[in-house]
Amino acid sequence: MEKRVYIETYGCQMNEHDTERILRLLEGFHYLETKDAGEADFVLVNTCSVREKPEHKVYSALGRFKGLKEKKGAIIGVAGCVAQQEGSRLLERVPYLDMVIGTHAIPMLPQLLQKVEASGERVCEAGFDLDGSYLKAIPPRSPLDQIRSYVTIMQGCDHFCSFCIVPYVRGREQSRPRREIVEEIERLVEMGVKEVCLLGQNVNGYGKGLKEEVNFSQLLRRIDEIDGLDRIRFTTSHPKDLSEELIQAYLKLSKLCEHIHLPFQSGSDKVLKAMHRGYTEESYLEKIDRLKRVCPSMAITADVIVGFPGEEEKDFEETLNLIQEVRFDDLFSFKYSPRKGTRAAQLTDKVEEKVKQDRLSLLQKIQREITFQKNQALEGGVEEVLVEGRSKQSREDVTGRTRSNKIVNFKGPLSLVGKLVPVRITNAYPHSLRGALLDSEFVLSPGCLSHEGQKCCC
Ligand code: SF4
Repeated sequence: MEKRVYIETYGCQMNEHDTERILRLLEGFHYLETKDAGEADFVLVNTCSVREKPEHKVYSALGRFKGLKEKKGAIIGVAGCVAQQEGSRLLERVPYLDMVIGTHAIPMLPQLLQKVEASGERVCEAGFDLDGSYLKAIPPRSPLDQIRSYVTIMQGCDHFCSFCIVPYVRGREQSRPRREIVEEIERLVEMGVKEVCLLGQNVNGYGKGLKEEVNFSQLLRRIDEIDGLDRIRFTTSHPKDLSEELIQAYLKLSKLCEHIHLPFQSGSDKVLKAMHRGYTEESYLEKIDRLKRVCPSMAITADVIVGFPGEEEKDFEETLNLIQEVRFDDLFSFKYSPRKGTRAAQLTDKVEEKVKQDRLSLLQKIQREITFQKNQALEGGVEEVLVEGRSKQSREDVTGRTRSNKIVNFKGPLSLVGKLVPVRITNAYPHSLRGALLDSEFVLSPGCLSHEGQKCCC
């Protein structure tokens, strides 16, 4: 008999992808997804402690689902970073919680679920899997109704930035073999996927510990050869490890989109040192300069933290200066909040909450203006757009993304879904673009319109 699973997901793309993998796994065990928690037989809260205030969110989510347990005996579980970090303490604190599934235990989920169903026993699996087998692909069972897909290439991090919980909850860096990744992407392409986003906490570290000697740029080169795939993206890259070979890949690989997410976190060398980031403001700007020289149309996004302990007004001003200099296409900005177990959590020279909020508001205001100006600069130009589906705003419109990852809405038939088409940008908005299809008969090859002809294959 079919049952229903409801998953509430917090945080980053890695977590969203884990949710996708869990749904694929459970489908083979007759659990189908529902978007309505009220009809679920199994409720899973997939937690993130990287970007969220973790405990608070988890306990408030579990509080909402307590009634489901009482009324219909739904099984309640917690997965993700908080599960990994807290382990069985979560079971002790929440008496109606049935399962705790750590970040490396996803492949074991169906068996653990069956155990809970059969015996009512409460289970916790939060160890680290040291051979990396937990990273194996979980193939989709039903046809994929999507043009873009995430593919995990590595997980974990060896950097131990002082504010970050990742090395503790995702473990040390582990990479998947190149052949396995290529086979997964080939299968996705057979199912209609045109764009992949390669995921890893530090993709530049790809290859460490594998039997085959291979680095991230070599992996990209192999993926670029896959027939039927149109676009490649990746996230996240660490500025310290961004190699010249990878920068050159933007010039050579026609499917690699001209967008990089390169978190800088602070523009102050003093703060960067306290964060243990391993680079200076100057060396970060040098990398940006290299990227822009190789690829002038490169879109750059980043993460930044304000109010790290010890951040003074002049440090914050240096952060603003860096933002003005780089002119990011977009920023993910956060107020610093301590993560239990990290080195920064022990620092005492805290920045007052109001100061943090004021700095964040100012930074976001400046970035909003830059983002809008960068969108406006595209007006009148022609962009290669990969059409993803019907626009949410109008039934006559389709929606897609430029190579620089900007959303474009324009009038066009649904038959364009999955195609690369040329679109003239007519209007810029703060978070999206409006365009006009140039010729629906004219379908592009990857990279036709970018790099001022360097990659042109028309
Ligand atoms: S590089 Fe630093 S911020 Fe990024 S995942 Fe690793 S420890 Fe966290």
